[in-house]
Amino acid sequence: MCEAPDEATAICELAGRLCYNSFNKRRPGGTREYFHHILASGHGSVLEHASYTFLFADVSRSLTHELVRHRHFSYSQRSQRYVDESDAPVVVPFDLRDDYTAWQNAEGMRNDPDLARPVWNDALFRFHHWAMQVEESLGTYRLLVKEMEAKLKDNPDLTDQTQLRKRIRQTSRSILPACVATQICVTGNARAWRGFLDQRATIHAEPEIRQLAGLVHEKLLAVSPELFGDYLVSGNDCLLTNYRKV
Ligand SMILES: Cc1cc2nc3c(=O)[nH]c(=O)nc-3n(C[C@H](O)[C@H](O)[C@H](O)COP(=O)(O)OP(=O)(O)OC[C@H]3O[C@@H](n4cnc5c(N)ncnc54)[C@H](O)[C@@H]3O)c2cc1C
Repeated sequence: MCEAPDEATAICELAGRLCYNSFNKRRPGGTREYFHHILASGHGSVLEHASYTFLFADVSRSLTHELVRHRHFSYSQRSQRYVDESDAPVVVPFDLRDDYTAWQNAEGMRNDPDLARPVWNDALFRFHHWAMQVEESLGTYRLLVKEMEAKLKDNPDLTDQTQLRKRIRQTSRSILPACVATQICVTGNARAWRGFLDQRATIHAEPEIRQLAGLVHEKLLAVSPELFGDYLVSGNDCLLTNYRKV
């Protein structure tokens, strides 16, 4: 009944065509032309029948704080109450990444007896200062875990070990920085993902989530080119389309 190249697109085409019983009244251009018409006419509810799930790993808590504002997605995120964050990796903010590279190069020089000692400069200072503060927060987190354990372990109301661990971690996590990495599983329909791309693959979005939006678009385009092929990739991970907010 439908010529769509993938199941997600096929189900949307089926749903759309049944509205006007247009299975036998096809325009030239096939599925591609059909969705061009759907997007141009803003008939976006048809796109809600296709669903896509992503697992985002090693993204910062700042990013997920922005991500969860998109209300049409379903989320499952690693819990900082259940999971210990003592060895949490962190995400270096976008504008400190070149400083981080400079710092790594300097570390290489420091550790190689045959190389000259690195000269302390602004880039090294900036990264060093940031990294020290992050390490301080993580150090305080580890200390708090120990201190809260000592404080709560003999509490007669906390015999359940899971409840005890939650109480320890929920207090300790208050000191964790927003750059701590996390994992989040996100499910949404094609319309919701388009809304996400419209808002986050723009120069106004924070670089980490903008970069993620670019990667999401690559994957969606590979799976369902008819539903996401109107986005043109421009510089700085931005996407352009004539069909925003369908
Ligand atoms: C560059 C940028 C900067 C931002 N800065 C800030 C900031 O400083 N502070 C801040 O708090 N947030 C900020 N946000 C988040 C922003 O305000 C939105 O919360 C987020 O982008 C989600 O988009 P949304 O609300 O349009 O809708 P989504 O939740 O993604 O829903 C999509 C659409 O569904 C409709 N919809 C959803 N829920 C409702 C509803 N309850 N009633 C009516 N219609 C609804 C709307 O048409 C909406 O556009 C920023 C976002 C961006 C992209």
